[in-house]
Amino acid sequence: MSEINHLNSKSGKSTALFLALGLFLAALAIAYYVHNSQDEVLKQILKGQAERTETKLVKNTQHLLSDLDSLSKRWDSNGSDGNGQRLLDAQDFLKRTEGVQQVLRIDNEFQMVWSEPNLPSMTNQIDNILNDNDIVLKLIKARDNDRPEISKTFDVSNQKTVFIFRSFNRDTSFLGFIAIKVDVEMFLNNILGDPANVDFYTKAYANDEVVFANGPDLTSYSNLEFFELNLDEDADGWLFKVYPTDSSLNLIISPLPYFIAFAGSVIAFLFFLTLRSKQKATKESYKLASEISEREKVQFELEYLANHDTLTHLPNRHYITNYIETRVKQSKSTKQKFTILFIDLDHFKDINDTLGHAVGDEMLKKLPILFNRVFRHDDIIARMGGDEFIVYLPGEMSIGHVEKLVERFLKSLEYPIEIGEHLIRLTGSVGVAFYPDHGSDVNELLSHADAALYRAKDKGRNTFAVYDSEIEQKAKDRVNLIARLHSAYENDEFEMYYQPRYQLSSSQIIGAEALMRWNTPEGKVELPNKFINLLEETSLIIPVTLKMLRRCCVQYSKLVEKQPDLFMSFNISAKQLEHPDFLLSLQNILDETGFSANRLEIELTEQTLIQNVENSRFILDKLKEMGIAIAIDDFGTGYSSLSYLKNFQVDILKIDKSFIQDIDSDKDDLELVKTMIAMGKNLNIITVAEGVENETQLNLLNDESCEQVQGYYFKKAMRFYDFYQLV
Ligand code: C2E
Ligand code: CA
Ligand code: CA
Repeated sequence: MSEINHLNSKSGKSTALFLALGLFLAALAIAYYVHNSQDEVLKQILKGQAERTETKLVKNTQHLLSDLDSLSKRWDSNGSDGNGQRLLDAQDFLKRTEGVQQVLRIDNEFQMVWSEPNLPSMTNQIDNILNDNDIVLKLIKARDNDRPEISKTFDVSNQKTVFIFRSFNRDTSFLGFIAIKVDVEMFLNNILGDPANVDFYTKAYANDEVVFANGPDLTSYSNLEFFELNLDEDADGWLFKVYPTDSSLNLIISPLPYFIAFAGSVIAFLFFLTLRSKQKATKESYKLASEISEREKVQFELEYLANHDTLTHLPNRHYITNYIETRVKQSKSTKQKFTILFIDLDHFKDINDTLGHAVGDEMLKKLPILFNRVFRHDDIIARMGGDEFIVYLPGEMSIGHVEKLVERFLKSLEYPIEIGEHLIRLTGSVGVAFYPDHGSDVNELLSHADAALYRAKDKGRNTFAVYDSEIEQKAKDRVNLIARLHSAYENDEFEMYYQPRYQLSSSQIIGAEALMRWNTPEGKVELPNKFINLLEETSLIIPVTLKMLRRCCVQYSKLVEKQPDLFMSFNISAKQLEHPDFLLSLQNILDETGFSANRLEIELTEQTLIQNVENSRFILDKLKEMGIAIAIDDFGTGYSSLSYLKNFQVDILKIDKSFIQDIDSDKDDLELVKTMIAMGKNLNIITVAEGVENETQLNLLNDESCEQVQGYYFKKAMRFYDFYQLV
């Protein structure tokens, strides 16, 4: 996946680069073309200018020369005496032609004989020039060929100067020369005009020497045109170079190609960037999209986990409470009604405890199938935790209707469920609450359905109860009672009574069981069945028990002083046994009160022991180490009875009073009691019969050699002072 992405992005990148490069090259080609055409145009223009310049130069020079010709002819005819006339002619000539600075007459001896204007400073210079061999040769040529000759260039007073010679001779004899001195610069400037106006510069060379230039240095110019010009037939020609002025060049050569190249590059670059960023954006958005879908997946999983029970995959407490809350809100406008069932499996804990949690879990996993057989698809079934479930039933339902539905559900539960080698039959209890009759919000509805569930359990399980005013009252009472128990603890309203236990053979008191009473502020003495369960549920049982045990140890020490064999039996609930500080607290109490551990017996029910077998075994071992005796309370009522006894170090079995009560009338119970006593003997465990109320029972027990007895037949539980007296 990521590999492909990587390749895609790579090829995408090179496509962008390729396209951009193409665009860039195209721009360069166009720029090159425009540049070339501009150059072509410039060449044409320069060629034209060169031709025009050449024509002008030729025309003007010829004009000058023919002017000089006609002057020489006139001087011929004037003869040698016409000096006055010659002066006028010369002055006229000088005026006519710009650049011509002097008119001279040279005699046939090649000596200057006359000059106009006649400036003495110049005379020497000209004399020097006339002595120059080249000039003499020129003069001879001019005489022989009878036509004008142009001298080489001289620097005269820092001015490039040429002389033009023309012989004037009468048909018969040679008389001399007319020479004109020409300032090259002035002459050419006059012909060529101001470069600023004509848009071209001109530079002239004679024998590689620059003789004229009206523009800047040529080296910076690549655009130039040149032509050669021979002013007389045999002279080495002058070379003229013509090149454009900056302003004219700018007119012809626009920066267009550069602009095109630049713009092209910019466009190509921008194109590349755009393409790249688009590809990047696509990539990013793909990445983002996959990230989002990944996130959505995680979100979905989180949401699923938050709203579902991982074991049964049913909606969980969180989900159902939210759901009901939403329904309640909606019903404010829709007036929708619905029903809540609060379901609790009876004795599910026992399955967990005896068959193991794995079996319990398997059991729970199968429950949705059971539920779905009874409830419709738009009913919502949620697991509240443990073995508690909520069913939301939409729409209005009559009590009769709910009754039928719940009965069907309870029936379906009874169907045996196969888990491994076990066949398990479940029963359940159901509490029913209607919306809006039994609550205006989710908490109220659920707690009322829960209260109804309590009621159903009270009725004997495997049944249901609809929330009503009686339940409401009970629920309120419960809350009320909890509050009163808290203050009872704080105000020391609990008291321990003692019920004596006897050795059957000797009818001697051998000890007593401590039983809790509650002296209410109203002056009533309440029995444990009124409050022990609530103390356990609220965990108040822990501090209350420790307080009571400490007190008992102090009181009982006085008795033990009198009768050192007397023991005290104390009931400990499962909550207390599970508490991590239990052993430590117990040891502290013994240490602080000085009560001997081997005078103490602890009563634990079968239920308590099997709730956490490992923990129970550990604690029992410790208690044994401390020297405390262990009694199994309510023996025979437990789920699994005898078999586990071998697992624990037990000293005493207290046969539950429900068996004792019926041994005089129920043969089965008698048989059971016989078996329990026999087994106790086998295992070397003392058996105690609880709840002995009459002589018949006592005699039967005596027959079976039960060792100890406790019951109303002897004594009820009494206050410490009374017990003290009794002993
Ligand atoms: P239990 O441990 O089985 O205690 C024996 C109960 O049987 C006592 O009831 C006692 O008064 C009653 N009893 C004794 N002889 C007879 C008889 O001949 N006939 C009848 N019908 N009943 C008899 P009590 O004191 O009401 O206590 C009830 C239960 O409350 C106890 O049953 C025990 O499970 C619990 N309990 C009492 N005190 C404590 C306590 O301090 N801690 C804990 N965890 N539980 C306590
Ligand atoms: Ca007991
Ligand atoms: Ca008991």
